[in-house]
Amino acid sequence: MTYQPSEARHDALAWRRAGSSGLTLPEFSFGLWQKFGDRTPYETQREILLGAFEAGITHFDNANRYGPPHRAAEKNLGRLLRQDLGAWREEILISSKAGNPIGKSPYLRGGSRKSLLQSLDHSLRDLGTDYVDIFYFHHPDPATPIEETVGALVTAVQSGKALYVGISNFYSRAAAHEAALLLRQAGVPLVAHQPRYSIFDRRIEIEGILEQSAEDGVGLITYSPLAQGLLTDKYLDSGIPAEARAASSDFLSPSDISEDYRVRARALNDLALERGQSLAQLALQWVLRRPEVTSALIGASSVEQLHHNLRAPGFTALTAEELAVIDTHGVH
Ligand code: NDP
Repeated sequence: MTYQPSEARHDALAWRRAGSSGLTLPEFSFGLWQKFGDRTPYETQREILLGAFEAGITHFDNANRYGPPHRAAEKNLGRLLRQDLGAWREEILISSKAGNPIGKSPYLRGGSRKSLLQSLDHSLRDLGTDYVDIFYFHHPDPATPIEETVGALVTAVQSGKALYVGISNFYSRAAAHEAALLLRQAGVPLVAHQPRYSIFDRRIEIEGILEQSAEDGVGLITYSPLAQGLLTDKYLDSGIPAEARAASSDFLSPSDISEDYRVRARALNDLALERGQSLAQLALQWVLRRPEVTSALIGASSVEQLHHNLRAPGFTALTAEELAVIDTHGVH
């Protein structure tokens, strides 16, 4: 049967502007990093992604690397666009990224013109689209002059293959500013920076990235707000649920579930319960308290998790006292 979303989706989430650009996004975006490759049944992926669209999410974040294996998540999103979501392409923001290694060849990594532009072409083939909405440089590459990388991003826009460009994982304030400046000078302003940000990872506060983004008029689409699930109640008791990310991922392991972690997470969970919400909802509200954050980029392995998380903004705003308690138990 043809997929038909409800009209209510347009008003389901609050919208925020990406820096000083004309682009607005719902305060939650959805990423296809780990459970949208070939190890998860396609029907499960479809259910979650259509559930996200139905719930008001418009931005689906992808990368040449996402799977496993690399490229599988873009192929799977391509299938969904072909079979279900393609009719709504104009209401959807799709991003891709390149620059993080996807193979041994030097042309399959880094910020060279060759690496970025051929990856973009490959991603467009896998996605089955003529353009992506945001094309990101995935990770700084000290071996490539930033002017070459910026030149490739400019070409991506000028050739019509990307509407906007972004950078990701720039934790040096000076380097983030330089990229923004060069892109602005080239007439292709940087629309978004995608760094990691959560109660357990406050690097962008420490390095002044939040302030720099505001000064440069760049939106922040911050990822892993739940620290990959550590900021939920699933690891509070002894043991690791068999289906959880820490049991099966290449990026989160049982050793991350340390006693120090559990002490912190339990204290944060107590605060959340006092406020009548879950730890996940508290953690998402915390990220979204910053006006510099355009959108919190989340993942979910079920529609239930997704719906639960999207309720986060409905709770009372965090008080100064509660923020101080979070400071005590977070990781700086
Ligand atoms: P989150 O911190 O939101 O973690 C999501 C995971 O947490 C879920 O897959 C699920 O894992 C678990 N979870 C979510 N909600 C709940 C809940 N209510 N209860 C219990 N467990 C829950 O984000 P991700 O780390 O997934 O990152 C999100 C996106 O950010 C990625 O898909 C990607 O698009 C982007 N990203 C970008 C990077 C970059 O370098 N630019 C790097 C990393 C991510 P499970 O159920 O499997 O345990």
